[in-house]
Amino acid sequence: MAHEIHPVTLADIEQASRRIEGRILHTPFVPSASLTELCGVPVGLKLEHHQTTGSFKLRGATNAVLSLSPDARARGVVAASTGNHGRALAHAAKAEGSVATICMSRLVPDNKVAEIRRLGATVRIIGRSQDEAQLEVERLVAEDGLVMVPPFDNPAVVAGQGTLGLEIIEAMPEAAVVLVPLSGGGLAAGVAAAVKGRSAKTRVIGLTMERGAAMKASLDAGRPVQVEEVASLADSLGGGIGLDNAVTFGMCRALLDDVILLSEAEIAAGMRHAYAEEREVVEGAGAVGIAALLSGRLGRLEGPVAVILSGRNVDMGLHHRVISGKADPFAEEAA
Ligand SMILES: *Cc1c(COP(=O)(O)O)cnc(C)c1O
Repeated sequence: MAHEIHPVTLADIEQASRRIEGRILHTPFVPSASLTELCGVPVGLKLEHHQTTGSFKLRGATNAVLSLSPDARARGVVAASTGNHGRALAHAAKAEGSVATICMSRLVPDNKVAEIRRLGATVRIIGRSQDEAQLEVERLVAEDGLVMVPPFDNPAVVAGQGTLGLEIIEAMPEAAVVLVPLSGGGLAAGVAAAVKGRSAKTRVIGLTMERGAAMKASLDAGRPVQVEEVASLADSLGGGIGLDNAVTFGMCRALLDDVILLSEAEIAAGMRHAYAEEREVVEGAGAVGIAALLSGRLGRLEGPVAVILSGRNVDMGLHHRVISGKADPFAEEAA
């Protein structure tokens, strides 16, 4: 395995880091007194939720846009994401003098549409599902020559997300464990390639929610499989990995040391801890690392531990309900 060739290497990530320098923030890496005391080993937090647009997705989107030829950049980029990838791509395209078209279904709430518009994207509202929005993406690629930038299964996107791993291992070179939120695996694949490229013995553990964990189900099955999508506090971790996954499935299979699943109540506890003890507002997906430490599901931990807080784009009404313990909105009611 040591010499396995991956679609994204440490050298690709180092190149991405130079390419996006000055366009993204080097977010702070801070010690956590509360988690260090709780775990008995040093715990550091990578505050990536402070990244421009509120999540790490800006790294991959920026690297992808900058990797395009001037001609392709002039034609514009397109994606179907209404979440953090859509926001990031809108911002990245505008920053580089390109335009992002974000396709979304009629069911997407007005505030999300307005946010993406505010970031400079052209919004195209079509159909009644994400699948229909994705068909429109494919039409714009085929007929208008726009370039699709997918949220995770793309080498330039993975290399961009990997720059977060470089920053972590530079801040904590002796890290024994890095905890990474996991959905489509762009973040986990990039971070694991960077971290293990620099420090082969550091363990990288993916964290996701119990329900609808497509990458976990796929790793267990040995091939990409579909899972039913279920509402979760960690909404940024929803969605499939693509049955034709070309990049992230193989990298996660080779590079992740473990994948741990968390309940809705555990994710809520992670958000509460981030707020009450660290004074940080994080969305559910951004809280799974803290949630895993609090849950005890990691067993006896070797340290030091680095935890990625990956995003902060949560509805503030929902955040308020969660941190005041009034509701774990999607808590284990019948699935
Ligand atoms: C997209 C996202 C993730 C998961 O990233 P993948 O590359 O899809 O695994 C985690 N946290 C936040 C906040 C995200 O937006």
